[in-house]
Amino acid sequence: MASRITPGQIKRNNRKLIYDYIYQNKRVSQQDIAYALRLSRPTVAASLTEMEEDGLVFRDGQVDSDQIGRKAVAYTIADQHRIAIGVELMRKVVKIIAVTLYGEVIMREVYTILFEKTEKYYKTVCDTIMEFITKNDFQDEQILGVGFAMQGLVTADGKKVLYGVILDCTGLTTDVFARYLKYPCLFVHDPEGAAFSELWVSPELNDAIYLSLSRHLGGALIADRQVRSGKHGHNTTFEHIQMKPRGKLCYCGKRGCMETLLSMKELMGEREPEDFFRAVRSGEAEEAAQWAEYLQNLGRLISIIHLVNDVDIILGGHLSAYLLPEDVEVLYREVNQLVPFEEKNDYLLISKMPRHSITVGAALPFVREFLDHVGHEAGM
Ligand SMILES: [Zn+2]
Repeated sequence: MASRITPGQIKRNNRKLIYDYIYQNKRVSQQDIAYALRLSRPTVAASLTEMEEDGLVFRDGQVDSDQIGRKAVAYTIADQHRIAIGVELMRKVVKIIAVTLYGEVIMREVYTILFEKTEKYYKTVCDTIMEFITKNDFQDEQILGVGFAMQGLVTADGKKVLYGVILDCTGLTTDVFARYLKYPCLFVHDPEGAAFSELWVSPELNDAIYLSLSRHLGGALIADRQVRSGKHGHNTTFEHIQMKPRGKLCYCGKRGCMETLLSMKELMGEREPEDFFRAVRSGEAEEAAQWAEYLQNLGRLISIIHLVNDVDIILGGHLSAYLLPEDVEVLYREVNQLVPFEEKNDYLLISKMPRHSITVGAALPFVREFLDHVGHEAGM
């Protein structure tokens, strides 16, 4: 049965189409919009006037129009009409970031605040977030929400930590922060945040496994451009695949997990990655051997992933900034020794966003939500 579309719905749909078109094309004229979307000029003009009044778009100089020799008013997105805050809670520091509607970083700060499960800590973190907001003159109505990247698995609704042994925060809920903040709050499992960032900067990406090679090992599964956490929320927790039953103790309580072989913590301890890789690249024997062993273990993990899920594998996390094409070649060699069939070496990708991916990724769900619903705001 055909459903009836009301004039209000048509108007809202047009508004969203026009907003999306300007968002994608950055600076466009009324004529360009009308032509591209096959809408009448008066329809586009009325919608633009409304969106200008609402602060969603603004006039930004002129662009060449299709008509020869004539300039037309350019419209552009007010990219800070709304912003989102990303917060990464770590053992010794709290990182805070603000991103625009294009997911671009406006401001980033790192504060030394030791993690503890106390009311004082939750309040200090929230006071710091408020200070960050005030200092940067962000207005309450601008802020879509605050995403907290957690070193732990979180529930599908992003309200609770399911398993957070690194910071001993299992069971923590967003309420502990939300009670001090006026904005919606959400928890994001940290590698999933990094995967959101990767998706954001990779429009061509559909299905992939994201490997987070950071201080701790982690992963995320991307399918149809969605990050999938799984039935119980622990998809791609490669870090706890046991490789050596008598190996080193993992923070989970078991021995010889991938975490004990592939975390940056195990690879370089408290050393700065810059120093470690300087030594590796200049051929220092000890570091070069550690790195060779790391790549061998990483190759083993990649071979397992590759056999289970034949998709691109993104080498992400802090370590990805130091990976060279020659390392990727070593990885392919390792994998090819373990995989029984020959195939192209075309599935390992180095992350496009090695820096701030987790903090930005924690903010992005709010931006996505806003962009998906432009034109459908209350009262329209
Ligand atoms: Zn473990």
